[in-house]
Amino acid sequence: MGVTATKSGNLVVVGHGAAGLAAALTAAETARGSGRPVAVTLVEKAAPEDAGGNTRWSPSNMRMAGPDRVEPTFVQDMLAATQGRGEESYFARLAADAPATAKWLQSYGIEFIQPPYYLSKGPPRIQPVGGGANLIKALTQASIKAGVTFRYGCSAREIITKDDRIAGLVVEQAGRRETLPADAIVLACGGFQGNAPMMRTHLGDGSETMRLISPGTRFNTGDGIDMALRLGADKSGDWNGMHCEPVDARSKNSAPVVLVYPYGIVVDRNGRRFFDEGGGLMHETWEWLARNIHFKTPGSIAYSILDSRLLDITDYQRAIRSEVAPVQADTLVELAELIGVDADGLTATVATYNAACVGDPKTFDATLKDGLAAAKTLQPPKSNWARAIKMPPFIAYPLVGAVAYTFGGLATDARARVLREGFAIPGLFAAGEITGHFYATAPNAVSVLRAFVFGRIAGHEAALHLAAK
Ligand SMILES: Cc1cc2nc3c(=O)[nH]c(=O)nc-3n(C[C@H](O)[C@H](O)[C@H](O)COP(=O)(O)OP(=O)(O)OC[C@H]3O[C@@H](n4cnc5c(N)ncnc54)[C@H](O)[C@@H]3O)c2cc1C
Repeated sequence: MGVTATKSGNLVVVGHGAAGLAAALTAAETARGSGRPVAVTLVEKAAPEDAGGNTRWSPSNMRMAGPDRVEPTFVQDMLAATQGRGEESYFARLAADAPATAKWLQSYGIEFIQPPYYLSKGPPRIQPVGGGANLIKALTQASIKAGVTFRYGCSAREIITKDDRIAGLVVEQAGRRETLPADAIVLACGGFQGNAPMMRTHLGDGSETMRLISPGTRFNTGDGIDMALRLGADKSGDWNGMHCEPVDARSKNSAPVVLVYPYGIVVDRNGRRFFDEGGGLMHETWEWLARNIHFKTPGSIAYSILDSRLLDITDYQRAIRSEVAPVQADTLVELAELIGVDADGLTATVATYNAACVGDPKTFDATLKDGLAAAKTLQPPKSNWARAIKMPPFIAYPLVGAVAYTFGGLATDARARVLREGFAIPGLFAAGEITGHFYATAPNAVSVLRAFVFGRIAGHEAALHLAAK
């Protein structure tokens, strides 16, 4: 199906996740409101049954204190998460527009709940009922109603410009290339986690074999980043950064995270500990752990070792999303044999660890950093939740690191315009994972929120850009 040229022109949106759907639907709304029709086409690389990118597989928690507000400290929290390298104007716009964005989602039938965090108290967040899959469904239906044309199995390949203005988008579908007329483009096609050579270049040797956390993750191969960089776009974000989490090595599920590791120890194949498992709440240590399992441990695998007291932690199941039962045994030697870990190494490690668990186990509290630290002689230390592992059955989960998304991307301003040498490239907008802005660690529950907020801004700005032509 081709694109009909109209009075105000053609907008092509690339990507069918949160950012792309928000952009396409908002552009259609803005055009309708202004009486200047725009032909909006959304191109999506995947087939309809696979479309939706990471968003579709994501519970889509959003960092908001309620649907009508963010925490007063939101912007400062974002700057702290990015270790001061994030742009205040970007996060201030995100905070300012978040409530209107949640309201907009509600207007399309999305309801929010405030789910409990895994086990500890986490940052405030709201969650759409039905998660990302429901968001994709609801916004796709609304976009179709609003007149957006969808093309599936259609990959964006190249942006065409004429006299420095956007003129078209080269796409490839079923092996055939064509140029779609485009006066403005919104790039919303994710990070580069699904692109092995890009991963190797920016995150180092071996990163190309890191497990992808969900079936939707593989489609994000940095195409939009590459297309915009070829136009001279500026880069933003930490190109050596990614959000990754420890998952059950045996599971075939999407995102089978195992986040009870702070309450026991984590060992490598030799049975050796390699970090402070109690160094922080699990969302403060999960990226480090996933990365170090993948890059630093023999065989890129580690094992969370616990005892039966795990089962006494209220709602412990909330922190385990694997469908596979843990390995259990009555002795540590038997457990080591079952998981293929050096038995002498594991028993020696547990003996040393247990001897260092000198605090009062009654002060153990999984919901906060309980200060139950091991003796200072223990190396690596264990700063919280240091309780001896001695109550059979002993429990193990094999862990590997899995990547959700990358941080390196395009520089955009608070109007979602793609920048080149600090100035907006006329007609080119971007939102979501494809944009940089994240450094050091992923701020908890912000990726979907920013995809929606800046997706809407991009769609609105693109429609205004076309109306002003
Ligand atoms: C399991 C899981 C849990 C998560 N949990 C949370 C959470 O609770 N809160 C949170 O904030 N974040 C979470 N995230 C991260 C968050 O879901 C994503 O970062 C966010 O949804 C990205 O939205 P997006 O629109 O930018 O990209 P995506 O949703 O990934 O969409 C990008 C789309 O672009 C398409 N595409 C790629 N290349 C092309 C091309 N060349 N041409 C056409 N189409 C193309 C892809 O197929 C895809 O459909 C989670 C992620 C996963 C996988």
